[in-house]
Amino acid sequence: MRDTEEQLVRELGERIGYGRLMHVAEHLWREKALSSGLQGTELTIGPCARELVPCPCPESGRDVAGHCDWCCGTARVTKRVAVAIGMPGISGRGAAFGALERGEHFICWPVSGDNSGHGGYLGAQRLLVKTGELTANNGNGIESSMNTRMDVIKVLLR
Ligand SMILES: [Zn+2]
Repeated sequence: MRDTEEQLVRELGERIGYGRLMHVAEHLWREKALSSGLQGTELTIGPCARELVPCPCPESGRDVAGHCDWCCGTARVTKRVAVAIGMPGISGRGAAFGALERGEHFICWPVSGDNSGHGGYLGAQRLLVKTGELTANNGNGIESSMNTRMDVIKVLLR
């Protein structure tokens, strides 16, 4: 039965396009749901997979039943949602500390500030190396605590 269903969908998808097949199916399901007084129960299709990242399904995003309120069970979210969730390795600007491997070098993303210890674009950037999940070192043996969401610029050394 399952093989038969897959073969039917494959044949139609190859014939009219899989995206078109899903759009038409959503449209027809919506019409059926509306006429049955069950509007909103139909599934919808979303963006292309390459626009999405895996959802960590964080506890903070679960509803009272324990279902993920971020991805609605699809296990995928947009990058912007991932940033809002605070997913390790996903940054609003590019790389985040959490995405680096141990031993990789980086500088912190420059931020505005007073240029004397509290950010600022005029200060020198220190080259750091990731030493642990939440630690980095600037080569002097002193460990610094890091945040997985901290914006960084990865530096490739040769
Ligand atoms: Zn989720």
